Amino acid sequence: MQVQQILKSKGTDSVVTVKPGTSVIDAARILAEKRIGTVVISSNGTKALGILSERDIVYHVARTGPSVLTDKVDTYMTSNLVTCQLADSADSVLERMTNGRFRHMPVVEEGEMVGLITLGDVVKARLSELAMEKDALEGMIMGH
Ligand code: AMP
Repeated sequence: MQVQQILKSKGTDSVVTVKPGTSVIDAARILAEKRIGTVVISSNGTKALGILSERDIVYHVARTGPSVLTDKVDTYMTSNLVTCQLADSADSVLERMTNGRFRHMPVVEEGEMVGLITLGDVVKARLSELAMEKDALEGMIMGH
């Protein structure tokens, strides 16, 4: 299974982005409103400059205090982004997420973001693929 199929099964390829200079509290409001775990920082909506996750916010507020909330997302985002491409396999993405200990990955083609997949998206897609394989094997064994 490829990233392309995972994105298709999600039904949306839109990525929630905020511009550099956005405050952390505004980013947190977007996370809460949309019930998501990360925002991608981008000036034009397609070139990813960094990612800010709920974990970053919790970590920095706990360490520094509530003043973090009025700082800019740029200060706390992870700019060393790990991305994937449409043709990458689900297994390779799972491996990179597990090794890097993060749950989100922008999908980038020729420098432009074309979607974002989460650990949950990949696990769900892999489980349904495994269930189909199991049914097919059972069918073969039972002679259906
Ligand atoms: P997450 O598990 O995605 O909430 O993120 C955990 C940590 O990894 C946070 O510090 C994020 O900023 C960072 N992070 C999330 N996604 C990525 C990614 N694709 N590449 C690099 N770092 C990431």
